[in-house]
This record gives sequence, structure tokens and C-alpha cells, in this order.
Amino acid sequence: MTSTKEPSFRESVDLMFNRAASLMDLPPGLEQKIRVCNATYTVRFGVRLRGEIHTFTGYRSVHSEHMEPVKGGIRYALAVNQDEVEALAALMTYKCALVETPFGGSKGGLCIDPRKYEEHEMEQITRRFAYELAKRDLINPSQNVPAPDMGTGEREMAWMADQYARMNTTDINARACVTGKPLNAGGIAGRVEATGRGIQYALREFFRHPEDIAKAGMSGTLDGKRVVVQGLGNVGYHAAKFLAQEDGSRIVGIIEWDGALYNPDGIDVEAVRSWIVKHGGVKDYPDATHSANGSSVLEADCDILIPAALEGVINLDNADRIKAPLIIEAANGPVTAGADEVLRKKGTVIIPDMYANAGGVTVSYFEWVKNLSHIRFGRMQRRQEEARHELIVSELERLDRYLGDAWSMSPDFKAKYLKGADELELVRSGLDDTMRIAYQSMREVWHSRDDVEDLRTAAYIVAIDRVAKSYRAKGL
Ligand code: GLU
Repeated sequence: MTSTKEPSFRESVDLMFNRAASLMDLPPGLEQKIRVCNATYTVRFGVRLRGEIHTFTGYRSVHSEHMEPVKGGIRYALAVNQDEVEALAALMTYKCALVETPFGGSKGGLCIDPRKYEEHEMEQITRRFAYELAKRDLINPSQNVPAPDMGTGEREMAWMADQYARMNTTDINARACVTGKPLNAGGIAGRVEATGRGIQYALREFFRHPEDIAKAGMSGTLDGKRVVVQGLGNVGYHAAKFLAQEDGSRIVGIIEWDGALYNPDGIDVEAVRSWIVKHGGVKDYPDATHSANGSSVLEADCDILIPAALEGVINLDNADRIKAPLIIEAANGPVTAGADEVLRKKGTVIIPDMYANAGGVTVSYFEWVKNLSHIRFGRMQRRQEEARHELIVSELERLDRYLGDAWSMSPDFKAKYLKGADELELVRSGLDDTMRIAYQSMREVWHSRDDVEDLRTAAYIVAIDRVAKSYRAKGL
């Protein structure tokens, strides 16, 4: 956690915003309009549980409505507070602008420890919270579309969507009121792992640019790179798993709430995940060294550090001891403004949160579009595509026969080529494209301007510029 000498999370986001805005030519009034949070709704509601009334406090903050609906997750955690929700809502505005999802920024939170409640109690609490938000259009397909965040997932989204549908029985677009729903309740293939996939695609894109790799003092590809990941939740788990299984990276450190695991030869992510599910934490996992002081492993020798847990974990207390030359912010706000400055001076390259973890909202966008169009992606064209491919394959087969031993089709070409893309493949393709293009827009600013030292400032400049253009188009 950040020490008292550091600004709060929201102030930290504002400081980073100001740094970028000072390099832009915005009228001061517009700059302020973009920075401030438009509104935060606080609700306190009671739910009767175990024979007693329990009061819960929840928030939904709308940072910017330059585009509607506004978008952002709902977090369930005891530490949720207004400052945090507003910081996260601001990041959503910039994130959506950077990856070109047509949304304003919002975020919600409920102060609760979800582990303390049974499933039916969580349903009662979630439905009540959803009712309070939907009543004020803070859940609404055209106004405000929540999604999962820390402590929430498909289950909570299904309850919220159903609650909205019960309250709006004639709304044909009711399913588009939240994203991150299970597939059978209007969700989309690939949403659960989307943020982790986005981290992988972001790193792949980074490693396509030798100049950028050199800025981090590295060389080569993701293959063999030593990775430390903090938090093996939905985002950290998928990112680590994909990097290990598909890119040849070596996961040398895993940090969890009850300490950290370290093994320079690599850790089996899947095995640790199963261990956590069974035992509740990483302690006593056999194939790695455990240290009780988990955050010490943030400072371990590695190539890529992936903070995928809470905000403020890299701060003025530990920034100068971080050895990783490349940090990719899978969590929102894991590096404080103060630490950011220390790391920048050291030459650490940081792939910033608003870009790095945008995979979630990107696939949420696809889900929302799917819900509004009332049809699964690929349903119309898949078989037609396959039939056209069949034509080419049969011609190639004719050639194959004609040429005899001189040429033949590669063994798996036919099967691979014939298969039309299903929804999951289309989602991955859309996500990959989004992550590549957004990275390129950031690096363009990073490399073309002498006054832009880092990717974060570049990301803010791209995002602020887009939000400003959209306000101007509205006549503001
Ligand atoms: N909670 C995620 C985020 O912080 C996802 C938001 C969304 O899908 O709307 O980006």
C-alpha cells in the first residue's frame, strides 16, 4: 500500500493526466472538464440476512459522458471507497478512448467481503444493489453498462442483467445492460479470459518493435523471458498461463495474498492455480520457494513484472528496488505517480494500465454489440466462408493429383483452411487488432515527440486528444 507521503489514487491519476495535458494545447476550461469526475452516486441499502438487517454502501461514478453509454466494472471489496471508484472511472474514460470503444468512463463498487456470504445471500445483495442502480439509469443498455471487476464475475453479471430485465420487461435490448455475462445468459465467447489475453497481445505487440525492446534494455522475443506476476486472479492467471503455454515465457515468481513463490527454473501456473483453489493460498506449494513477505518478490530479478492485483503496490517505498526493466500494468493503478517518476528516471519501461488491461472492456464492447444485434458473431458467414474455401481446396487437390510426387498439400492445410471462424476466433481477432492498433497509436507519440518520455504520457495524450475532439464535436 502507498505510504502517507503519497497522493491518493485519484490524485495520482490526476497528476499523470496533468503531466500529459501540460504537453498539449488544450483550452484550460476543456482540460478541466475532461479531468473532473462528472458525478458519483452513493447508495446505502439494507438487506435482511440471517434474521437481521445489514446495511451496505455502494457507489457508481460517472467520470465522462462525452460518449454514451458509459462503461466500467463493478468491484466488490471491503476497501472500496469514493476516491478509488472515481480514479477507476477516470481510467475507464481514457482506456475506452485509447482502444476506441465508443463509451464514456464509469466505475462502481460495493463495500463488502464476498467471502463472508453464501451464494444466495450474494444474490440478494447483488439484486438489491442492481435495483438501486437501475432505478437511476446507472444500469441501462444505452446509458451505463457495468461489467465484472475485482470480486465480481459472470455470476454477479447474470443476476444484474436479470434484475434489470425484471424491471424493464419490454426492453428488447435488456441483455445489453451489463457485459461479462455467462454465455447462456447473453455473454460472448472469450470474455472471461479477455483481459489476460489482452496482456499477452500487448506484450506480443511490444516485442514486434526492436526500438521499443531496446528502450527497456532487452533483446529477443517473449520466448524464455522471466516473468513475475502479482495476483493469480482472473487477469494474472490467464496472462501468466498464455505467456507460458503459447509464448515460451518462464513464470519465475507468483505473488499472492499469503506470500510469494519463486523458482528460477519456472513455475507451473496451472498447478499453482489448482493449489490455491484447494488450499486457499500459495503457502506450502511444493515446487517453489515460499516467502511470507510477498511484495519482496516484486523486487526479484526478472525481465517482465506483471502487477495484476491492487493499486499502489509499486510506490515510493519500493520503486527504487524494482529490478524488472519492463512492467506491464495488468491491474489499474499499480504504480503510484511518485513511483512512476522514480522508474522513469531509472529507464524502466512501463506499459500503462489504460492500455495494458483494456482487453476486458474491448471484449465487453463486442458483447454489447452482439446483444444489440441479437445474433452471434459468425452465424451468417461461417458456412459460406467454408464453402468458398472448399472451392479452392478442391482446385488444389486437382493440382496435387496432376503434379504427382512433385508437389502436395501440407498435411493439415486442408482442415485448417476449410474451417470458418467461430465466435471465439472472431473475438480474438478483434481483440488482437485492437491491441495492436492502440499500441501503435501510443508509440507513434512516444517516438515522434522529444518531450514525451514514456508510454503512459503518450497514452494519456492520445486518449485526452480523442475525448477533447468528441467534446468539441458536441459544441463544448
Ligand atoms: N473492469 C474492467 C476494467 O477495469 C472491465 C470493464 C468493462 O468491461 O466494462 O477495464
